[in-house]
Amino acid sequence: MSLLLLLAAPPALAWEHIGKAWREEDFPLHWATGTSQEEDSLAEGYGREVLVKSWDNWLVAECAAIGNVYDDDTRASERNYADGAITMHYDDPSDEIEPGVLGVTWPLANNVIVKETSTLVYRQMIDADIVFNDNVDFGSQDDISTDCAGQTSIEAVAVHEIGHLHGLEHSCQDGDPCTETDLAEATMFWAIGSCDLSKADINVDDITSITTLYGSSATFEAVTSRIGANPLAVEFEITSEVPVISASWKFGDGETSTELNPTHEYLTPGQFTVEATMELEDPVCGSSFYTYDQLGYVLACEAPVPAEGADGYFTMAHSDGLTYTTVNHTDVSVYGCVDTIAWEIYKGTGEGVISADNLVDLDGDGDSDSIGAWAPKIAFPAAGDYTVVMNIGGPGGVRASFLSVTVEDRAGENASGGCSTTGSSAGFGLVGGLIAAVAGLRRRRSVE
Ligand SMILES: [Zn+2]
Repeated sequence: MSLLLLLAAPPALAWEHIGKAWREEDFPLHWATGTSQEEDSLAEGYGREVLVKSWDNWLVAECAAIGNVYDDDTRASERNYADGAITMHYDDPSDEIEPGVLGVTWPLANNVIVKETSTLVYRQMIDADIVFNDNVDFGSQDDISTDCAGQTSIEAVAVHEIGHLHGLEHSCQDGDPCTETDLAEATMFWAIGSCDLSKADINVDDITSITTLYGSSATFEAVTSRIGANPLAVEFEITSEVPVISASWKFGDGETSTELNPTHEYLTPGQFTVEATMELEDPVCGSSFYTYDQLGYVLACEAPVPAEGADGYFTMAHSDGLTYTTVNHTDVSVYGCVDTIAWEIYKGTGEGVISADNLVDLDGDGDSDSIGAWAPKIAFPAAGDYTVVMNIGGPGGVRASFLSVTVEDRAGENASGGCSTTGSSAGFGLVGGLIAAVAGLRRRRSVE
């Protein structure tokens, strides 16, 4: 008999995990059998016994925080995909398995992310059922070792499917070269031949896979500011309950380190994902690797600049009456590097005009006003000469730019020719209103 496919797997995201995992508090996993508790090609009573043995086979991976409890009650014969109860069925009661497939695991997850690496997102498993096909000649390891007449090991298939139920993917997929012996001999290898006795017990690759998923873990965090002006030096520190032997860091900007608690200087602006793969030494279980990611963790910023090709930080155009529109040209290509804006209007033009005495009270409430919109419409109180200042800032610093405008009270349809803008960016430096606006924000003041 040729090799048979064990699982009609969903598209693989990685070779060793399926991207679904149980939470720590879900263990021990409670499971039960369906009404078809026995497989007719096995000795009476062995159907249930072999399932208990197969679950416990995974406990060899003693550094994985797993466990299971057999609830010895019988559930409905129809497989219920979403009843939240792990159920194992012989004889394919809902007649849903393709011919040639030995068994299938249906893992069901919700949208909650329980773990994340740079290559895989793990969502929270909330149910999983296992079904064995009804037209397969299953035999026990004992039967097959005594006299194999083409049977397939029920132990091997059950242990394999229970691996999927924990969130493991195949060690090798159909078509992989799979030259490494540990992968080819793993219980999670994609197929098993009839009379094959070699896959009933989990091997080192299976143990590594489930220990990576449920074993010792560690995290890291920045102990200096991870958001700031470029160049930005960030110190990282690992937190682990077990000793950390080594670490391999990727800082997201192409640079790496093997220091345990490195300090990295970001030289280019951007938002960076930081990843550390740590070798952990459990005093009981030995060493294992764990990868931890922080997505978009570091934000290194330049002070705001006009977008490439733009005519300064902002321009203005007449709208109607005393109202003018603004167009903001500030470069926002690095997310998070522009987070503060304050517009101020001063009566008059020229260098001496930027003073609190000239600040226009736009809404007439007696306070000098500052507008927090990205590109506001500005309603001037009267015709005349004004200076419009846009203060814009972020972790990389603050810039002030201005335009002088002669405001005329005229209808919008006569607006061709538009504004009378003069002047340019980064002119006068910070003024009273802005200093108030950014006070209390943790950022370096940087003004040309
Ligand atoms: Zn499989």
